[in-house]
Amino acid sequence: MGFNYEFLLVEPIAKTPYPPLGLMKISSMLKDKYKGCSVYTQIGIGRPEGLNNPFQIWITSLFTWDNKHVIECIKFYSRTYPKSEIRVGGIGVSLIEDELEIGSNVNIHKGLYLDAEFYSPDYTATFGRKLNTSISLTSRGCKRGCGFCSVGSLEPKFFVRDNWEKDINTDLRYITMWDNNFLQSPNFEKDCLSLASFNKTVDFNQGIDARLYDTYKAELLSKIKLNPIRFAFDKVEHEKPLIDAISLVRKHSNAEIRVYVLYNFDDSPEELYYRINVLNKEGVLAFPMRYRSPLDKGTLMPGPKWNKFVLRGFNLSLLFYYKKGLIKKSRDAFVKIYGNSESEFVEKLYSIYRYDKSIKRK
Ligand code: SF4
Repeated sequence: MGFNYEFLLVEPIAKTPYPPLGLMKISSMLKDKYKGCSVYTQIGIGRPEGLNNPFQIWITSLFTWDNKHVIECIKFYSRTYPKSEIRVGGIGVSLIEDELEIGSNVNIHKGLYLDAEFYSPDYTATFGRKLNTSISLTSRGCKRGCGFCSVGSLEPKFFVRDNWEKDINTDLRYITMWDNNFLQSPNFEKDCLSLASFNKTVDFNQGIDARLYDTYKAELLSKIKLNPIRFAFDKVEHEKPLIDAISLVRKHSNAEIRVYVLYNFDDSPEELYYRINVLNKEGVLAFPMRYRSPLDKGTLMPGPKWNKFVLRGFNLSLLFYYKKGLIKKSRDAFVKIYGNSESEFVEKLYSIYRYDKSIKRK
């Protein structure tokens, strides 16, 4: 007669539409290693119904500025289940570990957890989310080493994941791929054909590298029902490859094009205007993404070429921007919010900031 092990998987705070992939894989690993075990899931602090005596408690982490919730969970579960071994991992604790109080039964893991890496996600462990997409990745790491990106420290070696196809749950309608840089993969051609064979809509939601996108890759990618197609426009110097990539996409597919636009890193507000203006003229959707240092504890920390007024003004402007459907068709709406030039843009951000201040004073 086997012993019925119990395990608890904890997501300290749920801020994204996707369940924690690491814990979904760990769930499959535990069910494989401890046949007949029971795996419970919990968001934040709580005692799942039916759980008595967990053998291990696995706690994940995501944004470093949410590590306080991870610490609360470690404390709560150490107190509640003093005999259980607690294992903590994920991005948040991998980037900043020092502030965690580590008790004797708490084990911190930094970086990828390779023991579970090659397991498929357990699609029953969705932490209460209704999931309509499979999640997978054909590769880990990225060879570019952009200064603002944590992939280099989390996944320092680029490697391919053979057999990623088994991650796909054919009952789910979509496929979401989390490759950091699919176009760097030596298996690119083979994996494109595999993905195409599922005949489902696929989203590489970390983006496709416009600087590596060429006619050959566009033709192969066009075999997949890719929608949307996402690129990034992190620096003004990347304009040419990005514009070339956008016209190639338009030749090969009808997919909606979305472009992540990083700001508040080493760019200036004027450079941000330049990039979102280029995209607006091209008629593609720009998704501004604010750089936030892993050390940012929750305040709006301005980058070296920003200040808190302009940054706050831009954040407030995004409320209008998103409300207007991200302004892709109408130049007028874009110009009304952001102006006709870099200097008008900055002036508008100051006025938005001042206006917001004045309403708060009333
Ligand atoms: S290309 Fe993307 S994944 Fe690679 S280092 Fe740069 S931002 Fe990170």
